Amino acid sequence: TEACLSVIEGSGALNAFVHNTPEIARAQAKAADARLAAGDAPAMCGLPIGIKDLFCTKGVATQAASRILEGFTPEYESTITAKLFDAGSVMLGKLNMDEFAMGSSNETSVYGDVVNPWKVDDRTLTPGGSSGGSASAVAADLCLAATGTDTGGSIRQPAAFTGIVGIKPTYGRCSRWGTVAFASSLDQAGPMTKSVRDAAMMLEVMCGHDAKDSTSADLAVPNFEAMLTGDIKGKKIGIPKEYRIDGISAEIAKLWDDGAAMLRDAGAEIVDISLPHTKYALPAYYVIAPAEASSNLARYDGVRYGHRAKLAAGDGIDDMYEKTRAEGFGHEVQRRVMVGTYVLSAGFYDAYYNRARRVRTLIKQDFENVFAQGVDAILTPATPSAAFGLGEMSESDPIQMYLNDVFTVTVNLAGLPGISVPAGLSSEGLPLGLQLIGKPWEEGDLLNIAHSLE
Ligand code: GLN
Repeated sequence: TEACLSVIEGSGALNAFVHNTPEIARAQAKAADARLAAGDAPAMCGLPIGIKDLFCTKGVATQAASRILEGFTPEYESTITAKLFDAGSVMLGKLNMDEFAMGSSNETSVYGDVVNPWKVDDRTLTPGGSSGGSASAVAADLCLAATGTDTGGSIRQPAAFTGIVGIKPTYGRCSRWGTVAFASSLDQAGPMTKSVRDAAMMLEVMCGHDAKDSTSADLAVPNFEAMLTGDIKGKKIGIPKEYRIDGISAEIAKLWDDGAAMLRDAGAEIVDISLPHTKYALPAYYVIAPAEASSNLARYDGVRYGHRAKLAAGDGIDDMYEKTRAEGFGHEVQRRVMVGTYVLSAGFYDAYYNRARRVRTLIKQDFENVFAQGVDAILTPATPSAAFGLGEMSESDPIQMYLNDVFTVTVNLAGLPGISVPAGLSSEGLPLGLQLIGKPWEEGDLLNIAHSLE
C-alpha cells in the first residue's frame, strides 16, 4: 500500500487517479494486517486497488467524471466495492474515466484526458475508454488491479490499449447496485488486472447474487482460480467470419491468426463460424445505449444531486433544469441524451428503438446458434487498432470514435461474458489484445481458455 501510494504521488502526468484516499488505504491495510495475523486471509487481503469513479463509495466523492455530480458524496457503498472491501482489498483512490462511461478514449472526463503509460516517440496516447483511468493505473503499476465497467467495451478496449487483462462477466453476474447507471440493460462491472489469474481471483469476489439488483442472477459463484488448469484439449473455438471487417489491418489479422494457432497448439479445435447479424450491432448499440442513458440521466435535475446552476431573477424551475443540465453535462453526454430522447419519442419509437431491440434479439440468437453447435468460445480481435493519439479523433465526427467498439458491443447486446487478453505488440511496439467471448455463466471456462493465450 505504501509503495503504491508513493508511486501515485509521482504519477500526476497520467491523470489516472482523480481522488486519492490514503487515509482509507492505510486504515484498510492495517485491518488487513490484523486479519492476516489472526489467521483470517480473505481472497484480496491487503491488496491495493483503484476504484473507477462510477462506483459509489461511502463518504468518498463520486462524480462519474461529470460536472453535474460535483460535490456528491454517497451515503452508501456499492455492492461491488463492499464485496471487495469485505474480502480485504485496500482502496487507494478513485479513478478517472469518460463522463458517465460514455466514450472510447477518456477524453470526455471533467477531470481531463487520461494518458496511456505506453508511448511512441513523443505521441501522447489514449489508454482507451471509458475505464481509461483504471487501465492506465494498472499498466503503470499504480495499483495491483482496478475495477472497471463495460457497457459496450469499456473494460476490454482500454485493457487491450494498455496491455492488461479485462473481463466483462455475463450480464447479471455482478450487482449493479450503487454503480452509477449508464445503460442498465448493458452495464456490467468487472476486474482489470495484470494477469488472467488476478482477474479470476478478483472476479470471484465481485460476483454473486444481490437482492438489491433485480437483474442480479441467483447462481453459485465457482472458484474461478481453481478452473485455470491450462487444459483446453478438445475445446471448440469459433472464428467468426463477419469480424474480418473491411479494412482490417494486416497486423490485426495476423494477431488473430497467431492467437488461433496458439489455441490449436494447446489442443483446441478451431472452427469457422458465422454470426450473420454482426454488422447491425454497432447501430443497434448506439440506439439502445443512448435511449437508456437519456432515461437514467433524467435524475440529474439540479434538485437531488450535485451541481445546480446559478439562477437569474425570474427564472422558474424549467430554467433551473435547463441551465443545470447545460452546464453540468459535457458535449458527448448531451449528444447521447438528445439521440436517446429522439429515438424514444412517440413518433420514432417503433422506427428506431423497437427495431434496435429486434436486432438485439437476432444478435443474441446468432450466438445461441453457434453455442448450440458445440462452440465453447469465440476468438476475435479486441479492437480494430492499437491505441491512438489523444486529440486524434475529431469530436465533430463521433462515428469515427464509435467504430472503436465494433468488436466489443455485440457481447453486451447478447449479455455474454467477454475477456481481453494482451496478445502481442503492434509494429510501433504498442500492446494489442485478443477477445474471447464465452457462453453465459461460463466465465471459469473462458478464463481458462484466455490463460492459454498468456
Ligand atoms: N465506447 C462505448 C460508448 O461510448 C462503450 C462505453 C462503455 O462500455 N461504457 O458507449
